[in-house]
Amino acid sequence: MARLLRGAPVAEALTGQLAARVEGLRHRGATPTLAIVRVGARAADLSYERGATKRCAAAGIAVRGLALPADCDQGELMAVIERVNADDAIHGCLLLRPLPDPLDESAACAALSPAKDVDCITGESLFGVFANRPVGFPPCTAEACVQLLDHYGHELTGASVVVVGRSLVVGRPVSMMLQARDATVTMCHARTRDLAVVCRAAEIVVVATGHPGTVGTDAVAPHQTIVDVGINWDDGLGRLCGDVAFDEVEPIVGAITPVPGGVGSITTAVLAKHVVEAAERAIG
Ligand code: NDP
Repeated sequence: MARLLRGAPVAEALTGQLAARVEGLRHRGATPTLAIVRVGARAADLSYERGATKRCAAAGIAVRGLALPADCDQGELMAVIERVNADDAIHGCLLLRPLPDPLDESAACAALSPAKDVDCITGESLFGVFANRPVGFPPCTAEACVQLLDHYGHELTGASVVVVGRSLVVGRPVSMMLQARDATVTMCHARTRDLAVVCRAAEIVVVATGHPGTVGTDAVAPHQTIVDVGINWDDGLGRLCGDVAFDEVEPIVGAITPVPGGVGSITTAVLAKHVVEAAERAIG
């Protein structure tokens, strides 16, 4: 039976580590503050906003919800982002995406000040991840994967890691972050030949494809660690599932994240950490 790598203890440890830093900021007259910009009222956005707000409250971070109607125009959205940029009391900003049509998401993302970009939506933050420099912040989900591996004591230096998926939100940034930690990273995608063979050879496999069952029993080996980033709805089972065939894979591998309750439950804690760090950078 595999060791279950649950996200909750990681999130709690991360949140706990923030208390002293938040206190330090308060002593210096600053309350770390996150702005959450939401357009419309999609259930997924509302749910993430609730989770982020709760996590921030637990960490002593203030949250300002800035909601716009679903039919707002680009000018109104840009004005809100400009207001966030100009407000010294706001240290980080989360823009809930995808934005409804016909809003120009790229323009909205590019307009955010990189210093307040706590979830890597600007080109500057992405450059920071790829160049391993402290410009902006990495995507919360990508960092959640690294935090999880660190928390459970997985040695990254020299480890062979396969990342399945190459999106700019998860696959590519997590590959870069693991490489920055001296892992030997192979990035796979939908056109990778013999995916199962490539995966079986790795010590750690990170899966972020958006397709349930991308990694099954043929792609895993004993002693491996499997990090499943996927969040999918399984109509047949009537519940969430990941991108890994958990029930079949779990008896074979050494350690695996559950879905739900794995990587996804760490992202808001990473977000809170980024807001605190943004506040620390802002006040110098
Ligand atoms: P994208 O659709 O943007 O990217 C999917 C990637 O997976 C692509 O690079 C694609 O390859 C690759 N891929 C698709 N099918 C296969 C396959 N059969 N074999 C190998 N590679 C494949 O998805 P995201 O990166 O945005 O999200 C991935 C998953 O992570 C989703 O389930 C999503 O819900 C979840 N997610 C979870 C978050 C969390 O907080 N836990 C946050 C963000 C995402 P190619 O480039 O060749 O098309």
